[in-house]
Amino acid sequence: MKTFILALVCCLFFASSAFAAVSLAYPQKAGLGEPFLVRITSDTNLDSVSAKWLGATVQPEIKNWKGKSVALVMFGTDVLNDKAGKKTLAISVVENGKERIFKRKIKIYNKKYKVQRLTLPEKMVTPPKEVLERIRHDRVEVKAAKETQSAKRMWFVPFQKPTKGSQSSPYGARRILNGKPKNPHRGLDFRGAKGTAVHAMADGKVILVSSHYYAGNSIYIDHGNGVVTMYFHLSRFGVKEGDMVVRGQTIGRIGSTGRVTGPHLHVSVSVQGRLVDPNFLLKKNTDKLLGL
Ligand SMILES: [Zn+2]
Repeated sequence: MKTFILALVCCLFFASSAFAAVSLAYPQKAGLGEPFLVRITSDTNLDSVSAKWLGATVQPEIKNWKGKSVALVMFGTDVLNDKAGKKTLAISVVENGKERIFKRKIKIYNKKYKVQRLTLPEKMVTPPKEVLERIRHDRVEVKAAKETQSAKRMWFVPFQKPTKGSQSSPYGARRILNGKPKNPHRGLDFRGAKGTAVHAMADGKVILVSSHYYAGNSIYIDHGNGVVTMYFHLSRFGVKEGDMVVRGQTIGRIGSTGRVTGPHLHVSVSVQGRLVDPNFLLKKNTDKLLGL
């Protein structure tokens, strides 16, 4: 009996030591509308990693860094569609065919976003019947672009600032257009004269170049692993669908196409289909995104 127990103990010891140490970095809390990062690091080669958050699953690319396996995942919440509260982050790590699951809680807290009152041409607030079909078509294109999942991670943080001008309208602003409450602003606006250069915020592939009713001339870039950036109201396109772009490359010019009061650049960032505050990805110090 003694031998059996000893054998069992040894067995358990080997079973646990067969796994390399896996460490997770993630924030314990994040504001509603903010993106955040999860970093999974292992001493040995991992077969695969998958991460789940609010119904979205990502299989991040595993990169080799100083002899370690590192996977970086971007998640976040959307000020329009998500709620504050404690949410579960689930990470599955497969090593030598064996899966381990790590579950962690992240607290999403409410933020105070400002209220903006704007006056626009009435047809831009309540679209005329003849453009409803066009708006429906725009939505189908946008949904497909936002939900793009590609296997290679081409992004890194911080993102490149998309134009030289300063920020005007922030993410999350609650909008009252011609006295009617509308959806919050789910992007970030930059000042700039017509013709000012617009730059890709990260390396990626152009997946949509289109002219939409509200967003005007728009470019969508897929950066991999569920991260897509968007650039609206452009006067000119400098890229076409299928083009590969590098971080900082000029992709178009500022304009005033779509629903606008004047020339400016609107950018949005979709993370696993959720529109998050782009400003957090532009900040030089990216430690906060990982909770460090
Ligand atoms: Zn905007």
